[in-house]
Amino acid sequence: MKLILLGAPGAGKGTVAKQLTAIDGSVQISTGDILRGAVQAGTELGKEAEGYMNRGDLVPDSLIMGIMEKRLQEPDCQSGFLLDGFPRTIPQAEALKVILNKLKIKLDMVAEIDVPRDVIFDRLCTRRTCENSDCQAIYNIKSMAPKKEGICDKCGSPIVQRADETQEAIGHRLDTYNEKTAPLTGFYKKEGLLKTITGTSSEVVVSAIKAELKK
Ligand code: ADP
Ligand code: ZN
Repeated sequence: MKLILLGAPGAGKGTVAKQLTAIDGSVQISTGDILRGAVQAGTELGKEAEGYMNRGDLVPDSLIMGIMEKRLQEPDCQSGFLLDGFPRTIPQAEALKVILNKLKIKLDMVAEIDVPRDVIFDRLCTRRTCENSDCQAIYNIKSMAPKKEGICDKCGSPIVQRADETQEAIGHRLDTYNEKTAPLTGFYKKEGLLKTITGTSSEVVVSAIKAELKK
């Protein structure tokens, strides 16, 4: 499948993407994971991106497009991909359209995961992420705690609160989403690709996406 997952921070894009990859081997491409990996590795990209990320601001479109143009041409994308956290602005969506046309790739659907803001705010405050950049597993201290407190079940590294998961940065990320990313629903509606799915459980969202893909 070739899918874009749209939705506010904390809507569950990452969790849904992981469940969908298990169906047909499509790869999850999360620009947030790529950027956090670069910050941890201390690369040029990481150094440029870090300040924006910690404030809860978007990284400039030019940086993101450079990453994604290359990423989409890697061989593992041929069997399908789930874009998680990209595109995030109208210019990114327009640039993506040009790249996909050039590569002769057709998207199946843009799935918007719609979750109420208070649920999201709550989730982000209690979210914890594995600090190992090759893992980045996600936990929630209220609803999905690791077996051993503070330790990742999958790789044994410490799980931490992300630098952009202070109350202030979370509020800012949600505002940025409403201002810059929410307009993408109009963009993809015009393209005839948008499906909006309302649901707070990833299982429900995954089944709805599967059902849409069968149509
Ligand atoms: P979330 O969806 O929880 O906000 P992500 O992991 O998708 O988290 O992104 C974390 C941060 O990385 C964003 O706040 C932003 O600074 C940066 N980022 C990720 N994807 C993009 C993108 N497509 N365009 C611009 N910045 C991005
Ligand atoms: Zn881990």
